Amino acid sequence: MRYISTRGQAPALSFGEAMMTGLARDGGLYVPETVPVLPAAEIAALAGLSYEETAFRVMRPFLGDTFTDAEFRRLIAAAYAGFDHAARAPLVQIGPNHFVLELFHGPTLAFKDFAMQIIGQMMQAALAKSGQRITIVGATSGDTGSAAIEAFRGLKNIDVVILFPHGRVSEVQRRQMTTPTESNVHALAMEGDFDDCQARLKDMFNDFAFRDGVHLAGVNSINWARVLAQVVYYFYSAVALGAPGRAVSFTVPTGNFGDIFAGYIARKMGLPIEKLVIATNQNDILDRALRTGDHRTNGVKPSISPSMDIQVSSNFERALFDAYGRDGAAVAAVMDEMKSGGFRISQGALQSLRETFASGRCSEEETSATIAATLAATGEVLCPHSAVAVKVAADHLGPVPMITLATAHPAKFPDAVQAACGIRPALPPHMADLYDRPERVTRVPNDLCALQALIRERIAL
Ligand SMILES: *Cc1c(COP(=O)(O)O)cnc(C)c1O
Repeated sequence: MRYISTRGQAPALSFGEAMMTGLARDGGLYVPETVPVLPAAEIAALAGLSYEETAFRVMRPFLGDTFTDAEFRRLIAAAYAGFDHAARAPLVQIGPNHFVLELFHGPTLAFKDFAMQIIGQMMQAALAKSGQRITIVGATSGDTGSAAIEAFRGLKNIDVVILFPHGRVSEVQRRQMTTPTESNVHALAMEGDFDDCQARLKDMFNDFAFRDGVHLAGVNSINWARVLAQVVYYFYSAVALGAPGRAVSFTVPTGNFGDIFAGYIARKMGLPIEKLVIATNQNDILDRALRTGDHRTNGVKPSISPSMDIQVSSNFERALFDAYGRDGAAVAAVMDEMKSGGFRISQGALQSLRETFASGRCSEEETSATIAATLAATGEVLCPHSAVAVKVAADHLGPVPMITLATAHPAKFPDAVQAACGIRPALPPHMADLYDRPERVTRVPNDLCALQALIRERIAL
């Protein structure tokens, strides 16, 4: 299994290499050269298996010889042992033919743990073999940062540096990043929004002297291994509802397009998914792009679902690569246009995207109203991101079961949830003293040179 860049100009890599590399050197993202298809009988045989065994069978075809089977099974077991629900990803029915997939039972209470915990295990295992040391730099709209810190804190040969937009994450999200005491954890509060953080991160990857000098590695969803780990729960939940004998649809609260792109890969692997519905908050570039063909930013407006306050969704490039017939030069050209604000998706590419994806947006008022209405109708307390998706899913219900992804625990956003429904969701016991722990954070400007100097200084310690 080889991985190629969406811009066609970087060397093809193995799984292990793509995982340690992150962004391709031509600025593109790595994708598998071909996606392995699981025969219907193999999908049917997933019925009733544990999450861990499902993960092994779904991910194994993508790994080549990076790990032995026994080793990979051990890494998976370690990755999910810290989840506080035996099912790992339980399904809850909230209406006729409408199900919520709870993805917030990991250590940092958001779906990011599903990928970050296993990528942490895999990177450690790879580094133990090579003896290398690396600097992980991540940009976060709130949840990636805490999940990455949780996965890498205290490890000897890894520094983890997280850039988050100052003042634009929830207090729980911020404290999860600023209270760990391990010296290899560096939380940086940057001026600007998430798109700025992600742009500076990409700048660091595109500065090869810096990149090679600090042994930069990335755990944002530009990293293929992140996406792959998320493919698993699409299979796990669809099979629980009768796939491959019965098709399902998914609605996914979308920011950087990594989560829903994992659903797209599951569909290419043969899982019968009728539609993948992109749910956006008021930062609705993807919904507008899919409706009109015009992919154009109009600035990030802070919302009560901050992890989706994104206008430049990195992983959309992976979907465009396929929609443009895997033409790396065409992708490079539209990404270049994006630097000046936007581009028009070609008619052919748009048609191709619409075969798989549908979309909808949810306003701030609708988000709050959905939290209240879902609580009243079902007793389920949704986080604002999950509420965005439940609202959009409701507009796309049909004969096929709808699975809506619940991406975070409501206790990560207690103010928004309480304002919407009157209930203040409590943190689980292992985080109960979060508000009492001292914070450690460095304010940084939106400036590449300053960031690079700070990172060099920190990792020299
Ligand atoms: C990251 C995140 C999202 C968006 O996921 P993408 O993969 O970036 O599209 C949605 N909800 C929550 C709670 C998140 O943390």
